Amino acid sequence: MDNYIVSARKYRPSTFQSVVGQKSLTQTLKNAIDAGKLAHAYLFCGPRGVGKTSCARIFAKTINCLHPTSSGEACNECESCRAFNEQRSYNISELDAASNNSVDDIRQLVDQVRIPPQIGRYKVYIVDEVHMLSTAAFNAFLKTLEEPPHHAIFILATTEKHKILPTILSRCQVYDFHRITIADIAEHLLYVATQEGIKAEAEALSVIAQKADGGMRDALSIFDQIASFTAGNITYNSVIENLNVLDYEYYFRLTEAFLSANVSSALLLYKEICDKGFESQHFISGLSNHFRNLLVSKDIATLSLLEMGEATAKRYGEQAAKCDIRLLYKAMDLSNRCDLDYRVSNNKRFLVELMLIQICQLSMPTEPVEPKPQLQPIKNTSQHTATVAQPSASAVKPTTQAQPAPAPTPQNQRLSAQAYAPRSATPKPVAPRTGMPAPAIRINAIKTEQTTEREKRKKPFTQDALVAAWLKYANTIPDEVALFNTMQSHQPTLKGEIICKVEVESTIQQSLILVTKDALLDFIHNELENDYIDLETEIKVSNERRVSYSTGEILAAMKEDNPNLIKAVDMLHLEIE
Ligand SMILES: [Zn+2]
Repeated sequence: MDNYIVSARKYRPSTFQSVVGQKSLTQTLKNAIDAGKLAHAYLFCGPRGVGKTSCARIFAKTINCLHPTSSGEACNECESCRAFNEQRSYNISELDAASNNSVDDIRQLVDQVRIPPQIGRYKVYIVDEVHMLSTAAFNAFLKTLEEPPHHAIFILATTEKHKILPTILSRCQVYDFHRITIADIAEHLLYVATQEGIKAEAEALSVIAQKADGGMRDALSIFDQIASFTAGNITYNSVIENLNVLDYEYYFRLTEAFLSANVSSALLLYKEICDKGFESQHFISGLSNHFRNLLVSKDIATLSLLEMGEATAKRYGEQAAKCDIRLLYKAMDLSNRCDLDYRVSNNKRFLVELMLIQICQLSMPTEPVEPKPQLQPIKNTSQHTATVAQPSASAVKPTTQAQPAPAPTPQNQRLSAQAYAPRSATPKPVAPRTGMPAPAIRINAIKTEQTTEREKRKKPFTQDALVAAWLKYANTIPDEVALFNTMQSHQPTLKGEIICKVEVESTIQQSLILVTKDALLDFIHNELENDYIDLETEIKVSNERRVSYSTGEILAAMKEDNPNLIKAVDMLHLEIE
């Protein structure tokens, strides 16, 4: 390895054309040279390793070239070009202001500036890291910058443009170098690999490019390092291992866990990542980036923002297709908040886990919305009585989840009025007390057909036996006080051979019975050995009074019983039909 030259040097661009990732900028420089409109001072700004110094050198060489090509490049053949390429040209001098930042250093430079070039037309002075000059050095330099000899051109380079004094800035033509895209770096690495006879997986080069964060010099250094470590066979896995990069496989797997709302899997994956020694904060920003990549993969228009190798881009496309865009927005928001909170959190691991759980929750089915009981008899208020078209009640046992009775709104005002209207001699129904869990109502659930498999029983039964079975069931649910009381005080009557009818006084009571209907019928079927028995509920309407009831009268009756209602009606400007 005697002649080993690091790739960053060996493949340093020698023409504007070969500068990677700064096309528009190099074109502008070429145009300026072509038009002979050269400034005396340039400021090249941009992150490290993006080609500032390379461009400065190419620029110096090109303006001194004796026979520039038609495309505006240096010929690389004339005496001046050869002197440049062999690094013996007197027309270029470089000063690293990071290590030579004193007034004396600048004075030396300024002294040189006076001497005109022997070959070529211009002497070019490159001052690297110019923001590192001391204030005194800056001031000494300023004078020369204001009135330079016609053969002198200064190229100042800096990674920190904001530290440059305005007096300097105003005297320079400013060029902003951009970070080189991952695709451009990966492409150049592939070129270098091919030239060097190194086998390299495209995904591996893509990861190196990502790690280099837009800097070609860093990318080439990493490339050299891994090429020597792997003896010229650069694989994705070797790169991941060497660079201690968090494999994006983890993010794909995590996202699968999110999509299936698999909290355990997400937490275990996170543990695995921590166990491998990865910083949680890197993990969070990696995850945010993954969501961002999924988002841009969803739209052809933004696909160019995805800086990925082809194979990975395809995977992003596939996973993006499974992700709802709103889910991605929310997931990005959650990971971003976690990132912000991370530094100040006392329990960082918990914070990350909480985020993972919250993202999983985005895919969880939302809590089933309890359908409002659609009790049809309410509509037929003008009729004397209304028979409920029996909706199949849920096979699910009444839950003990609290479901407060609906508050009076204009919409259900009639319903309340209707429920309220009957005032028969029967004992007052025991309505669910406040704080007592009222059963949730699921009218439209699928009814289980347990009885279809065996032959249906059809034993005759009497009214007394029916009531006995009814009450026996009520005794099995003493804890469900409201239902228990309703069943105790409202017993069924046999209508025809198999239809049992139970009259209740309110929609609440009706709902209570409907909710338990399946379980209740199962019980009665077994008690009476008859699988044909069915149940109807009916809201009883007081016959003679009902007919004469106008809404006004109902309201008056309600107000009489509940003075607060007057206030509520007035406050809300309700009009009851
Ligand atoms: Zn030349």
